[in-house]
Amino acid sequence: MSPTLRQQVLRKIPSVDEILSREEIVGLLRVHPRAVVVEAIRKGLGRLRKKVLHQEDLSGCEETLFSFENLFPLFQKEIDLQVQPRLCRVINATGIVIHTNLGRAPLHPLALKQIVEVAKAYSNLEYDLALGERGDRYAHVEGILCRLSGAESALVVNNNAGAVLLCLNTMAEGREVVISRGELVEIGGAFRIPDVMKRSGAFLREVGTTNRTHLNDYQRAIGPGSALLLKVHTSNFRVMGFTAEVSLDELVQIGREHHLPVMEDLGSGCFVDLTRYGLEKEPTVQETIRTGVDVVTFSGDKLLGGPQAGIILGKKDILDSIKLNPLTRALRIDKLTLAALESTLLLYLDEQRAMEEIPTLQMLGLDRRKLKSRGRRLLKRLQEKLGRGFQVTLKEDVSQVGGGALPLQELPTIVLSIKSPDRSVKSLEESLRKGIPPIISRISKEELIFDMRTVSDEEIPLLAAGVEKALSQMNEK
Ligand SMILES: *Cc1c(COP(=O)(O)O)cnc(C)c1O
Repeated sequence: MSPTLRQQVLRKIPSVDEILSREEIVGLLRVHPRAVVVEAIRKGLGRLRKKVLHQEDLSGCEETLFSFENLFPLFQKEIDLQVQPRLCRVINATGIVIHTNLGRAPLHPLALKQIVEVAKAYSNLEYDLALGERGDRYAHVEGILCRLSGAESALVVNNNAGAVLLCLNTMAEGREVVISRGELVEIGGAFRIPDVMKRSGAFLREVGTTNRTHLNDYQRAIGPGSALLLKVHTSNFRVMGFTAEVSLDELVQIGREHHLPVMEDLGSGCFVDLTRYGLEKEPTVQETIRTGVDVVTFSGDKLLGGPQAGIILGKKDILDSIKLNPLTRALRIDKLTLAALESTLLLYLDEQRAMEEIPTLQMLGLDRRKLKSRGRRLLKRLQEKLGRGFQVTLKEDVSQVGGGALPLQELPTIVLSIKSPDRSVKSLEESLRKGIPPIISRISKEELIFDMRTVSDEEIPLLAAGVEKALSQMNEK
């Protein structure tokens, strides 16, 4: 097509003002701010212009491309992009239970209810109702945390990274923290123990080797500059083979001998002995406190199954000095989080109930029968809708715990697999990911995999509808 002809076609694209005068657009202006509608029309027309510039054959395009019927959905979509929240719920079909990129732990309904209850009105966040005076925001969860863990004192902050930073800064600023070389971990998302240490103002004193650290390594490193002995739970990896580590019990003993506090960053933080439910050993918070350790920190939104938070437990005198650190104010937990955390913790008063109802724990405990029946429900719905060209089957596979917990745990699961002899499942995966709600699946050996462990029963119809919609969109193209 000649450049001049293309120019002529381009000039026929309607103007923003022309579009704005259409009756349908006046309707949109009643619902959305004018600036949003104008921006959407500009963007929509911009796309159209691009299309005209790149399309080979432009014959008849005025009737089809330029018609208002064709343009209107384009504007509507551009409006949605501006006014719809970008942060949205997604369906996690990856089988990774604590998926940091997908928001980690989904909350229990009671936690959600409590968030609404506390957020919609005023609350006693920092008000002591008994005394009628200023109260302490941390007091709401301190009692339950001490009761569940056996600790003397408790404090909660924004997240566990913040908790570690705050503890190191309070206990060891300008002095040395002794830690094994086997525990200088990176958690991902830029949390690395040596870096956090630096920012806290403490000095790293590494001892031992990557695979083996002994009691006398610690003993030799302790000197006048030492402030703290730190243990970090190697939550997201295991060192195997010729290894040796000093247990927390032993470290507490050394700490006592040298009058040095001992801290452990537990990472995930779990109140339930998971081995009783057929899972691998993850040290519980209670066991950790029983060693006599001075301070323990862990996350609220990993195995615990609550909101993002950093929980600090330990000896009262140390916790009191942490509470006085000005950094505590900078890392303070907000009231919505506190509401959700308190509700979640209360569920642990009944361990059985916690295992059955807290979503992360419930998903970890799902048995084959339940996973299979969920898979069958999805299979049935999809078989009705998919038609020929796609093969849908249920298969055995393994899910992961994720979130830097139980890195070696293999959870046998049931997945639904979709494959096609003549079509790529890649575009189906992409289409699902861009749907409403987005569905996050994974591809393994040319098959699209949906793990039944992380999809709830309520999500099965949504998932089926999403697949159906994605396929029909693909067929249109
Ligand atoms: C996950 C983790 C952290 C960081 O916790 P956040 O709550 O994500 O800030 C710190 N230390 C360890 C050992 C962890 O596993």
